[in-house]
Amino acid sequence: MQPLLKIEDLNVQFETRAGVLQAVRGINLEIGPGEALALVGESGCGKSAAAQSVLKLLPSPPARITRGGVFFAGENLTAMSEKELQRVRGRDIGFIFQDPMTSLNPTMKVGRQVVEVMYRHGEKDNKKNRERALEIFGLVGISNPGRRLDQYPHQLSGGMRQRVMAAIALACGPRLLIADEPTTAVDVTIQAQIMELLRDLQKKRGMSVLLITHDLSLVAGFARRVAVMYAGKIIETGTAEEVMNSPAHPYTRGLLASIPRLEVRPEERLAPVPGRPPVMINPPPGCPFRPRCPEAMYICAKIEPGETILGQGRIVSCWLAHPMAAESRPERL
Ligand code: SF4
Repeated sequence: MQPLLKIEDLNVQFETRAGVLQAVRGINLEIGPGEALALVGESGCGKSAAAQSVLKLLPSPPARITRGGVFFAGENLTAMSEKELQRVRGRDIGFIFQDPMTSLNPTMKVGRQVVEVMYRHGEKDNKKNRERALEIFGLVGISNPGRRLDQYPHQLSGGMRQRVMAAIALACGPRLLIADEPTTAVDVTIQAQIMELLRDLQKKRGMSVLLITHDLSLVAGFARRVAVMYAGKIIETGTAEEVMNSPAHPYTRGLLASIPRLEVRPEERLAPVPGRPPVMINPPPGCPFRPRCPEAMYICAKIEPGETILGQGRIVSCWLAHPMAAESRPERL
């Protein structure tokens, strides 16, 4: 099947005072029509930079796509002009940002903000647009939608604001929705409701979804496939079941061990991944996860591992997957 979205060898850099930061280092991803894929990793791993590069939303400078491209329904988005991209943003690809409070216009009624998107994409009948906005507010579960349309963002709760963001993203019926940490600014109850809403919309509308999250626990039951990102690279991919049940990369295992589980006894402690992700300005040679990796071997300090194919769509970048790994000396004895 032709992928709806294809990210090919995407490289994104930021010019900073300290040097060139390699935020995204040659990632490849494909999302089919109606498919949900989760891109997972800690903050600073490059996942949001990758997602925003799909629609060239990062300010340039300091951001720059240095290599590779993004294709949507066969069209090269990376090669498009700003004017051409404006046609695609919102109409073909909807984007839900992390923090609705900074993404919504505080001086404009939320209904107006939804109607604006439709107007910008050619639907000039404001009466019709308002009816459609009312319908979308109902669809995303906004209670009392008629009244909410005429409220300002500060008059709504965090959960409601996130639903308004979803309504804006869905206003023109996009074929792909990119949801960048859509539950960061809300509590756990609202988080569950937002995820339920996204699942529902994806199923009902047959929409493709790229979910960006640091939280692997959100992935189960939502995404069919998962890509785990670290230091600007995708270090493991597979179906959600494969990645959750038999993670192949030590970082993925670490992320899974840090998820709170119901069956954990009170005396047991969660095990967060120790240390911090590296800042990718002049990184040392070898595997970027090595300083935090409990399974590091001598080779890990010398050469960064390439991809090993474990099966159909199942890829890992770790020396442990190398056939000679069992004979290699561990770094920490
Ligand atoms: Fe750990 Fe080495 Fe694998 Fe990197 S390549 S994750 S340091 S075992």
